[in-house]
Amino acid sequence: MAILVLGGAGYIGSHTVYALIQAGRDVVVADNLLTGFRAAVHPGARFYQADIRDRKAMDALFEKENIEGVIHFAASSQVGESMSDPLKYYDNNLCGTTVLLQSMVAHGVDKIVFSSTAATYGEPERVPILETDQTRPTNCYGETKLAMERMMYWTSRAHGLRYVALRYFNACGAHPSGVIGEAHNPETHLIPLILQVPNGQRDKISIFGDDYPTRDGTCVRDYIHVTDLAQAHILAFDYLLAGGENNVFNLGNGVGFTVREVIDAARAVTGHPIPAETCPRRTGDPAQLVASSEKARTVLGWTPQYADLNTILTSAWNWHKNHPKGYEDGTK
Ligand code: UDP
Repeated sequence: MAILVLGGAGYIGSHTVYALIQAGRDVVVADNLLTGFRAAVHPGARFYQADIRDRKAMDALFEKENIEGVIHFAASSQVGESMSDPLKYYDNNLCGTTVLLQSMVAHGVDKIVFSSTAATYGEPERVPILETDQTRPTNCYGETKLAMERMMYWTSRAHGLRYVALRYFNACGAHPSGVIGEAHNPETHLIPLILQVPNGQRDKISIFGDDYPTRDGTCVRDYIHVTDLAQAHILAFDYLLAGGENNVFNLGNGVGFTVREVIDAARAVTGHPIPAETCPRRTGDPAQLVASSEKARTVLGWTPQYADLNTILTSAWNWHKNHPKGYEDGTK
């Protein structure tokens, strides 16, 4: 039987597909290619260009392929855009997941692992953050992801489907082969933006605020390598296959780095001075987001391999310097 990866042409989805195929799994990928890239899909996966909001397309997939469960990445994921265009997020993330779950229930597919986010917590009450801490999203992206979690919960109660929600902290890095990596259009994430400077695509990096109550005044984030995230999806899927109950896991290293520390690591790795300038704070940025991932380590047996910032930056730089325009020339 096959695993259906929705959004398998995106950043974390494509890395998970590579890891699944490397682990000998049979993989079907569906992606609408609005933000994902066909070139990011492993050639060993069967690919369908399909949108999760399209019930006919979802039904056709479940009828054609023998699907034992779903890993669901297909969602809009830009915080800023979610604030200026919230209904896009309700449509893609919530209406899309509604249609997907309806189709899964209709076809008796009862296991789903899906992308949630640290943005479900909002301003944390403490760090490191536990899964049981309060969830009060401060942006629409986090709000829709939290609502997706609740949708799974009620669907589970009514129809017996089981789910695992994985709350990612700051995904980063690229596949060790250098074949796939991070490519967003527009790019909003810190590490790819920093690496645009040594790549000659940007003069300097902006630091969004240096007056936070942190060790150097800049925001602290928990950077977790995409390869480690990919492994967590496989472990979560196997946990459901083994009969595991509904669950929510944080995925992070449990170590926070400041924006300045990330820039310094990028200077060391690239050998470029990378000028930086301090700018006003970005709206909605919590001062610190650091995960407790003890639960994922204990229950899933997950052990992140890339805890070190230099290793993370080295793998990201290996991708970006060889693919300054992402996939091909930036076309989809
Ligand atoms: N950041 C920054 N300059 C940039 C982009 C991001 O200072 O050009 C900061 C941002 O304020 C946050 C951290 O880097 O504190 C990580 O931001 P990113 O957008 O990568 O991820 P987020 O934490 O928002 O999910």
